[in-house]
Amino acid sequence: MAKIAVIGGDGIGPEVVGAGIKVLQIAADSDPALELEFTEFPWGCEYYLEHGRMMPEDGLETLSGFDALYLGAVGWPTVPDHVSLWQLLIPIRRSFDQYVNLRPARILRGVESPLRDPGSLDVTVVRENTEGEYSNSGGRLFAGTPREMAVQDSVFTRHGLERILRYAFDLAGTRRGQVIGATKSNGISITMPFFDEVFREISETYPDVEASLMHADALAARLVLDPESFDVVVGSNLLGDILSEVTAAVSGAIGIAPSANINPEGDHPSLFEPIHGSAPDIAGEGVANPAGAIWAAALMLDHLGHAETGARIVEALEATLESGTKTGDLGGSATMDEVTDAVVGRLRG
Ligand code: ATP
Repeated sequence: MAKIAVIGGDGIGPEVVGAGIKVLQIAADSDPALELEFTEFPWGCEYYLEHGRMMPEDGLETLSGFDALYLGAVGWPTVPDHVSLWQLLIPIRRSFDQYVNLRPARILRGVESPLRDPGSLDVTVVRENTEGEYSNSGGRLFAGTPREMAVQDSVFTRHGLERILRYAFDLAGTRRGQVIGATKSNGISITMPFFDEVFREISETYPDVEASLMHADALAARLVLDPESFDVVVGSNLLGDILSEVTAAVSGAIGIAPSANINPEGDHPSLFEPIHGSAPDIAGEGVANPAGAIWAAALMLDHLGHAETGARIVEALEATLESGTKTGDLGGSATMDEVTDAVVGRLRG
């Protein structure tokens, strides 16, 4: 029995995870080895406005007892973004040492890329998720004076680099055998050369994987101009974040893309979510695209050792979109429930 903690969060978050759970339950029905138990937690911005915190004091302890975490979206205009991020998602990523942020991007059948000629885009961005530029080391001085200043350190450790790079190279070994490291060592002259150095060291231990480094700005441009030429891209917390937003955009629409925050050793639960936010403009209307949440659910099954069932879910989703049952953001006219029910119908066979 896999115990799943569900944090729907804000806006369309609870709507799309509801769709994902429906799909997961049906998929589990046809997989005798898969039993899922869902426990929902009402944490997020509404909870913050009521309690002054995004989750209870013992929230992390509560979550630590689960096999996986399934999240919708966290963020609402009445709560500053840095509060919602630093009080919920970042503590989860760090405490559970979810050092891999995995963002696969592919043009699903029935989805049109905004690019004229995207080819057969199928790229996964592996983003370092616990250190790098997203550090809370730094501060501000001389506030309110003309000397006001802000400093924030980037933290790159050999331990952190080696493990994320190995993950990327291992992953490439199961795919098309190519890793491109996103760097910026021409401008950022201390931490990025260190990234490059460790990248080269690790690449030597993977003779079967083709490895190269590319400056992140040129890489972003090539993702748009020639997305087909990529297999696995690995980058620091900030560069990986930005580049995976590009891969999500060129693969169709933000509502499709999933993301996994993984603790590969399984010492702590991993977290699975669509990459989109709470989308206040369409919240409550029943028109959100559930594809990102459904694909994230498939990634969760993959991680829990049920890759075949995960693949069946993605196939059912693709077949649904291909048949024209899709939401407005993809040029269709279906509601979220219509898309979800069509996916469920295909899974039932
Ligand atoms: P946040 O600030 O929490 O990241 P946001 O909603 O401002 O959230 P995005 O999630 O990037 O930012 O969404 C931008 C816009 O894209 C939304 O306002 C919405 O119009 C559209 N969008 C995002 N997700 C979906 C979805 N699942 N289905 C349909 N449209 C979506």
